Amino acid sequence: MTDRNDAPSRRSLLSMIGVVAGSAAMYHAMTELGFAGESTFTGPPKLGAPPPGTSVLVLGAGIAGMVAAMELRDAGYKVQVLEYNGRAGGRNWSLYGGDTYTELGGFTQKVGFDPGQYINPGPWRLPYHHQGILHYVNRLNVALEPFTQVNYNAYVHSTTAFGGKPVRYREVQADFYGHVSELLSKSTKQGALDQAVSKQDQEILLAALKNWGALDGDYKYATGLEAGERRGYVKDPGGGLNSMPIAGKAIALPELLQSGLWTAIGAGLAYDMQSAIFQPKGGMGMIGKAFGKALEPLIQYSCKVVDIHQDEKGVTATYIDSEKGGTRKTATADWCVCTIPASVLSQIPMNVGAPMKAAINQLPYMAATKVGLQMKRRFWEEDDQIYGGQSYTDQPNTMIGYPMWDYFSKGKGVLLGAYNFGTPAFIAAAKPPEERIKDALEYGSKIHPQYKDEFECGVAVAWHRVPWTLGCAGFWTEESRAAHYDDLCAIDGRIVLAGEHASRIPAWQEGAVTSAVDAITRLHKKVMS
Ligand SMILES: Cc1cc2nc3c(=O)[nH]c(=O)nc-3n(C[C@H](O)[C@H](O)[C@H](O)COP(=O)(O)OP(=O)(O)OC[C@H]3O[C@@H](n4cnc5c(N)ncnc54)[C@H](O)[C@@H]3O)c2cc1C
Repeated sequence: MTDRNDAPSRRSLLSMIGVVAGSAAMYHAMTELGFAGESTFTGPPKLGAPPPGTSVLVLGAGIAGMVAAMELRDAGYKVQVLEYNGRAGGRNWSLYGGDTYTELGGFTQKVGFDPGQYINPGPWRLPYHHQGILHYVNRLNVALEPFTQVNYNAYVHSTTAFGGKPVRYREVQADFYGHVSELLSKSTKQGALDQAVSKQDQEILLAALKNWGALDGDYKYATGLEAGERRGYVKDPGGGLNSMPIAGKAIALPELLQSGLWTAIGAGLAYDMQSAIFQPKGGMGMIGKAFGKALEPLIQYSCKVVDIHQDEKGVTATYIDSEKGGTRKTATADWCVCTIPASVLSQIPMNVGAPMKAAINQLPYMAATKVGLQMKRRFWEEDDQIYGGQSYTDQPNTMIGYPMWDYFSKGKGVLLGAYNFGTPAFIAAAKPPEERIKDALEYGSKIHPQYKDEFECGVAVAWHRVPWTLGCAGFWTEESRAAHYDDLCAIDGRIVLAGEHASRIPAWQEGAVTSAVDAITRLHKKVMS
């Protein structure tokens, strides 16, 4: 973090946030810098019946494609879905023991996890205000459980601070709030805030700072029981004799500031990261699976669309078997909702107008990598009392995510051993999966020395090598949105695009849902006119 005072470019800012503050802050920054908006979901679309026999071809059975297919089917359209994979869900995906995954470049990984263990290589959390995806989760009866964004007892770690030893999140947060409160109290008392805060309000401010920063009666953040109530103790209070708590020593302000660890304590402040957050029981892929089941006869799997052609009568998609190749087949309908990610779609011949073509072609995709590591025992719970949440590090893995299910179970567990974006993700993508796993083990063992003894097997997904998305999510900028977003979303003849890339909630399933609802609402209007 030597360039903290430089004016960073947008990209270097993102990778800097990712490395120092961890994936939550990075993920938030990406979506915020991409101008993520509030979800506009107010309920499923009310389409009304189309002219009898009107047909729609939906390309892609990710969340956007399946929302579109479900609502169009319910309205009375004849729907056919073509999907590249042998399963429904797209990026909504969980990897379980026995699964096989082949990435671009040919590396095949067979997941060796035990039954009941899994990793979500893509989405893993559902904020409470993502009411669109939550609507379909409820409609499909997918069971949810809490997702812990902030665990106060997890670690924050810098290779260059505190001798490379991890520190508890609660200690860094309490000490940072405490020192800032003390400084601000001092400034208030010295009259430095007289211009900004009235005398009467200064009394209130002092009371608030004392409360917020756990200051003592002299407005000092000191080692003592007030601070211990926030940062924890060296020895916790107990019962009977010898029950007095012993407070720890606060980290001095200069050390704390220079450590950079304060960046991690914002992880749960962002709107998208605030409680309550949910996850499907058994893996995020449960949503895709339930959607697939509900749409069973409509989805044709293992179909790689290689050409999309429209004329005045309809739309024809040409496809081949995505595993075996072979003969080209066609599917035809009156209209088409195409949810194939722009990164892939830009390589598929499609006769749309120049504005939509330019919009598709200009959209780069963010890089992201996730690594899942199965451990023989849940040492983070047994030895460190960490139940769910994440630890953050300045190493390229950026974080360790702890499983948020089966707490206290005596068996194994799968850690999210790496979740990174930007430069570290591109570097990881350039390595074979076993090296990504090896790296994650090396980084993780700096925080949990138990790693090397307890590791059993792992899986690593680098999203730029996922053949059916070629990246994590569309990476819009202010400028590219102004120039191309409306052209990407506008209906071109008989074709409309949908997906997270056609939304202002990029890199979230809510974006896929709201985009699909908007696209089919406009398409239906056009059909009816
Ligand atoms: C690492 C990571 C973390 C994320 N974290 C979260 C999170 O915590 N919460 C959250 O809500 N969202 C998260 N997201 C974002 C979320 O996964 C996406 O926004 C959403 O799943 C996109 O849905 P979609 O339908 O637009 O696209 P996709 O899911 O990509 O669906 C497109 C479909 O098109 C298919 N397809 C591609 N090419 C072809 C072809 N040639 N022919 C036929 N079919 C084709 C694909 O197989 C796929 O099924 C994350 C994503 C990633 C990668």
